[in-house]
Amino acid sequence: MDQTHDPHRQSFISHPADSHFPIQNLPFGVCRRRDDPAPRVCTAIGDHVVDLAVLEAAGLFDGPELTGRRVFSAPALNAFMALGRPAWREARARLSHLLDVETLTLQDDPPLRAQAILPARDVELLLPAEIGDYTDFYSSREHATNVGTMFRGADNALMPNWLHLPVGYHGRASSVVVSGTPVRRPLGQTHDGQGAAPDFGPTRELDFELEVGALVGPGNPLGTPIPVDQALDHVFGLVLVNDWSARDVQRWEYVPLGPFLAKSFATTVSPWVVTLEALEPFRCAGPDQRPTPLPYLQADGAQAFDIALEVAVQSEAMRRTERLKTPLTVCRTNFSQLYWSLAQQVAHHTVGGCNLRTGDLLASGTISGPTPDSRGSLLEITWRGSMPLRLPNGDERRFLEDGDRVIMTGWCQGVRHRVGFGTAEGTVLPAREG
Ligand code: MN
Repeated sequence: MDQTHDPHRQSFISHPADSHFPIQNLPFGVCRRRDDPAPRVCTAIGDHVVDLAVLEAAGLFDGPELTGRRVFSAPALNAFMALGRPAWREARARLSHLLDVETLTLQDDPPLRAQAILPARDVELLLPAEIGDYTDFYSSREHATNVGTMFRGADNALMPNWLHLPVGYHGRASSVVVSGTPVRRPLGQTHDGQGAAPDFGPTRELDFELEVGALVGPGNPLGTPIPVDQALDHVFGLVLVNDWSARDVQRWEYVPLGPFLAKSFATTVSPWVVTLEALEPFRCAGPDQRPTPLPYLQADGAQAFDIALEVAVQSEAMRRTERLKTPLTVCRTNFSQLYWSLAQQVAHHTVGGCNLRTGDLLASGTISGPTPDSRGSLLEITWRGSMPLRLPNGDERRFLEDGDRVIMTGWCQGVRHRVGFGTAEGTVLPAREG
């Protein structure tokens, strides 16, 4: 920990105590300004964004790692993420200093300040990285147990491999979209279990999955695994992920190679990447692992992160009525409950020789907790539709309907401030005409 984590440090840009973006956070994102179409890297503080391309052009990133690099006048975080931890630390320390209430460099330079610091409503936040590959894990024991119980019964809930390796599959990077992008209900094949022929049409079981995603910084050469105790040096930061899923499509198509069209139509990520540096004060122990994992998966120390997570749903009908407008929170859980750690996911992903590349997205898998109110998907919350959710206007939900908005949020609660992720949101559009 260093000065950037000092809970007493304050910015000259003021904000409420529960803001997700105090000076201790300093997440990285990519935005487009109204007055300039070229996307650039930015950070958030309170309700403002700071244009790092402007600060870079002004020569304010003048440390040994960043001088002359021009990584912030870029349409994605990839060039910056590829530089590795020393450069990330240098940028964070510099920003923390420049935004400190005691530093006058930016604060007392009205033209530079006006050019570099904008109200958040005046920028459009874009996908933060160029994502080459997207891997989705299945690392929540509670989620795997719930889904296994529904599909195979309580006695066979966890498959024999589950406690020995972080199960995952290769997802689709092309359809990863930034928060706010509408999600169209997908068409696909389903089978009701009667007769031989499948049906074709819009999914009737559209679902969300609450996940946390990691963006890869420096990759590894093909054939050279990343040891578990070095794994986090390859992770730049975390985002919220909604891994939208079509359960009826998934049930029919997933045997024997896993999900395909049921997952590939859209995956929503939050625009701000919260760095592992910012999350350092919130590291904690994860769950006990029995049986003891194989040596390549054993890591000492606090491998988990204490991140409170929530999902809320707001239907179109709720939005139309002022007193019913507040989104209904349907899940409260915590990232620290994940059985397989991020470091173990990275070590396992690469142990066979697979190379990770800068910008790859590794998602955790649905994060469910042990209680009914901490389940991270509608499949679990409504127990496959058998216990419908009741919305504030009396409507019921088994799965998502057109017009439903899903809002995910997450934050680490410090003593004096929150280090937050903002939101990952998406609204369901009706299916395309078949
Ligand atoms: Mn998933």
